[in-house]
Amino acid sequence: MTTLPADYHLHTPLCRHATGEPSALAAVAVARGLPEIGFSDHNPMPRDDFDDWRMRLDQLDGYVDAVARARHDHPTLVVRLGLEVDYLPDHEDWIRDLAARHPWDYFIGSVHYIDRAWDIDNPAKVSRWRNRDPFEVWTLYFERLTQAAASRLFDIIGHADLCKKFGFRPARDWLPLAMPFLDATRAAGAALEINTAGLRKDCAEMYPNPQLLAAAASLGIPITFGSDAHAPGEVGADFDRAVAFARQTGYTHALRFQRRRSTPVPL
Ligand code: ZN
Ligand code: FE
Ligand code: FE
Ligand code: ZN
Repeated sequence: MTTLPADYHLHTPLCRHATGEPSALAAVAVARGLPEIGFSDHNPMPRDDFDDWRMRLDQLDGYVDAVARARHDHPTLVVRLGLEVDYLPDHEDWIRDLAARHPWDYFIGSVHYIDRAWDIDNPAKVSRWRNRDPFEVWTLYFERLTQAAASRLFDIIGHADLCKKFGFRPARDWLPLAMPFLDATRAAGAALEINTAGLRKDCAEMYPNPQLLAAAASLGIPITFGSDAHAPGEVGADFDRAVAFARQTGYTHALRFQRRRSTPVPL
């Protein structure tokens, strides 16, 4: 019997597609025996009309306050302050701007957009997958994910094979597409997230898949854990399976973050 790892990927109602205030999610974490959580809601963009699934810029301070309230309401729980930040190549200065605004514990870097118009995990745009060769889309996705890791703007890379979400998988071996990404992640000293949300999607497996996690382990890339909860009931979801997955792959430690510095914790 060991303690569960921290759940570092939690959303809040500010992103307009999640329920449960931070304090309510923290209460679930306490009830489920999690020692530590971190909020990582979708980052605001320079323009609030960028899309419709994130907080407005004028809500950022309120987000930080809501996380502080969760910490105050649950003194036995460690509550970290993070953001899930969309990587776009022309947003690097914006991400640095966000980083300077608050005392963040970590940034999760995620690729959802493979171009300005297509967030490939958006259920409203799933039909676009039917007109594209999955191998081509996965290629673009991993190229951008490699840029994200190489930017060194992130502590953790989120849901590394998100491109599998709706089950549009290449017929060819795709693992070579991900190797430059893993090399960039290692060079940047970033961690890879084991994200259990994939179990709740069409792909029906965690992010990353076993081959990708094994390749990361062989390179010595560290890990964190995230449920990607968009509702209180999802806090810590399937963490027993996620820990077993990490252990089977050879991991003995996960990272915890405070003020963007990491410490390994035994699994
Ligand atoms: Zn979301
Ligand atoms: Fe995401
Ligand atoms: Fe998320
Ligand atoms: Zn996510």
